[in-house]
Amino acid sequence: MRITGRCACKPLQYDETSLSFTCRVIAMHCPFCGANDTRVSDSRLVAEGDQVRRRRQCAVCSERFTTYETAELIMPRVIKSDGSRELFDEAKLRAGMLRSLEKRPVGAEAIEAAVERIRQTLRARGEREIHARDVGEEVMHALKRLDKVAYIRFASVYRSFQDIDEFRAEIDRLAQEPSFRPDDTGAQ
Ligand SMILES: [Zn+2]
Repeated sequence: MRITGRCACKPLQYDETSLSFTCRVIAMHCPFCGANDTRVSDSRLVAEGDQVRRRRQCAVCSERFTTYETAELIMPRVIKSDGSRELFDEAKLRAGMLRSLEKRPVGAEAIEAAVERIRQTLRARGEREIHARDVGEEVMHALKRLDKVAYIRFASVYRSFQDIDEFRAEIDRLAQEPSFRPDDTGAQ
């Protein structure tokens, strides 16, 4: 069951600036006998408040089971350069970052954290639609913090450097940034 609008999961607090969200509420059929009359005996927030864990008991067969509820906030739609709109595609975003980070010493956790930061940043704008180039800029910003080689890889494709001089100019610009040291992997 999907509920759009106000969430029925009372224990969850939403302080996001997003205008709406989708809450995935698992249909509470008993996994043992299929009855849909189940009682909640305990609810608690887990995963740093991002999930609600509920202990349930079937009213028919009395078996106990646990469910997890997660709120999924709706991302703004992406306006492409040709004016068409598409749904925000986290998998595509991650794939682009991974391509740039190939064989670089950046851990999966740092990458996931960066993806989540990008999602939060884009959501925090509170707009229903965002331009694809804004997403690209956020990716570049994140990669700059993660790994300078990955950043250059991504930027060279994204900004489509015309020649080697343009490429060199960007690297020089990077070297000028005080926050950009060779040993700065952004992993802190
Ligand atoms: Zn049952």
